[in-house]
Amino acid sequence: MIKVLDSFVADKIAAGEVIERPVSAVKELVENSIDAGAHTIIVEIRNGGKSYIRVTDDGCGISFDEAETAFLRHATSKISSITDLDNIISLGFRGEALASISAVSRLTMVTRTGDSPSGAKIILHGGQVVSKERTGANKGTTVIVEDLFYNTPARRKFMKSDAREASAIIELIQQYAVCYTDIRFMMINNGATLFSTAGDGNTLSVIKMLYPDLARHGLVPVSDDGVSGFISDPGSTMTTRKGQLFFVNGRLVSSSIIEKAVEEGYCGRIFSGFPVSVLFISAEPDTIDVNIHPGKREIRFLRQDDIKNAVSGAVRKAVMTDAAVPKGFVKNIENPHKDSLNNTAKEGVSEQPASEQASIREYLFSLDRTEEKEDPAYEPSFVSEEAADIRTVKPAPFDFNELTFKGYVFNTYIIMQGRDELYIFDQHAAHERVFYEKFMQGYNDSSHSPQPLLTAFTINVSPDVYSIDREWLNDLRHMGYDIEDFGDRTFIVRGIPPYMEIGEAEGFAAGYAEAAREAGGANRTVIDKLIMKSCKSAVKAHDKLSELEIDDLMKKLAQCDNPYSCPHGRPTFIKVTSYDIERSFRRK
Ligand code: ADP
Ligand code: MG
Repeated sequence: MIKVLDSFVADKIAAGEVIERPVSAVKELVENSIDAGAHTIIVEIRNGGKSYIRVTDDGCGISFDEAETAFLRHATSKISSITDLDNIISLGFRGEALASISAVSRLTMVTRTGDSPSGAKIILHGGQVVSKERTGANKGTTVIVEDLFYNTPARRKFMKSDAREASAIIELIQQYAVCYTDIRFMMINNGATLFSTAGDGNTLSVIKMLYPDLARHGLVPVSDDGVSGFISDPGSTMTTRKGQLFFVNGRLVSSSIIEKAVEEGYCGRIFSGFPVSVLFISAEPDTIDVNIHPGKREIRFLRQDDIKNAVSGAVRKAVMTDAAVPKGFVKNIENPHKDSLNNTAKEGVSEQPASEQASIREYLFSLDRTEEKEDPAYEPSFVSEEAADIRTVKPAPFDFNELTFKGYVFNTYIIMQGRDELYIFDQHAAHERVFYEKFMQGYNDSSHSPQPLLTAFTINVSPDVYSIDREWLNDLRHMGYDIEDFGDRTFIVRGIPPYMEIGEAEGFAAGYAEAAREAGGANRTVIDKLIMKSCKSAVKAHDKLSELEIDDLMKKLAQCDNPYSCPHGRPTFIKVTSYDIERSFRRK
């Protein structure tokens, strides 16, 4: 039942002149279709939506009697009291959209409910009803908006080029299509069908169809309580946040809290750039504030920590799996898919029948989009079809026990074989990780009594280090060093932490002193940074490894909280699948 909200409730709702551009009208109409339970939504625009917008759905429709009410300001069927506001699950609730759109356009709505033999056709010009009649119609609703802003010249001028406005609308529909994969979305621009999704609930295939750029990154499924979706492996990042789409209860939102949580979830495994992350988050309706300006994407969480923990926890679980080990290799192998996209983009014609991906790409290119620059270190990989359904796939945590030693090359890289893939470990990165966790743990386990040395050693520091505050000396003592000023820029070490070997202890202490120069003060983050830096110096003490040492290193790495990257975010190991190898030999 569509009712007009009483003024008390209406006043509590963030008011908004909702319609600023064609895309805002499309957004409202599509949200209405989603709220109406549509299975198919067709969006057609001409001239960037300026001259023509059509949104057709097969949802519940509006009865003849209510067709006019729907256009009254604050007329909505979605809430009726102030308490409803806390439990809102539908996308609309202000009851303003149809009123606002019809006020600035020539609007036609044809609609029929399932239980009515005939439908209603209502036409409004500038918000005034011009005609209303019964008509035959499919179940559902079609809204046609023509000549947007014909009666508000100021706003008409505010619009950008047709191409820009079209691009904004297409991008919006892509986002809805990714979020509502049970709904079939069809996008038509100036008479050409750009895409039509399957509506079969398969998120990954929609991402692949609409965001081939994102899908080229090795996508790892995320599936946890309240948080699902896909993220890239830590080695495949983008230079911008364009690959980050966050949906909270079906709304696309922008939120620095979620961005941070994603980053945290990667546990320092991001070396550079921003990981791709398409995440669907569900939150109790009364813990989010949806009542901000309808045109804005910000969201307020009443329990920020809960959201942060849920998101970072889900991402963390996903990156701690084999699926998230960065892929190396296959740099020069042509990727037929990629090539066809590039050709399409450059020449505007494809030798192959134009795939849907290609046509969207072509479109977006023609709309003058800039391409993402990718991290050149890794060749991005496609997700295989079998990872395809996020509701069933839950990758298992990475299992070091399944690895067998296969070789050691360039005095640096350890080759291990898994079931169907090779793993190449970087000995130095692995060592750094092991040291880092060992030293952090050592530091955190309160003070250790030094392990006395038979022969003391000295470390020399640069003059400026010798003259700075000696807080770093206390840090080292806290870690279990017996260390003292020995005069003449020298410190003497008579005992070392019990969890270090002498070579490590020497490198670490020297590194720590030097690192202390750059970081003043001894709070936790500083100490963490100092330890991170000095690990490197400890590692340098090791060169060629024996098989026994390799075995030991692998065991220690397996016990790490985060065995996947060194403390600086470089991967400790990468994966080459047998499929990659077969492809290199053109077997596949
Ligand atoms: P709101 O969505 O905030 O309720 P709108 O002005 O967008 O307000 O729509 C007013 C009302 O019209 C909705 O509450 C809904 O009952 C009805 N309505 C609008 N669009 C559709 C549609 N596509 N299908 C069915 N009902 C619709
Ligand atoms: Mg609405």
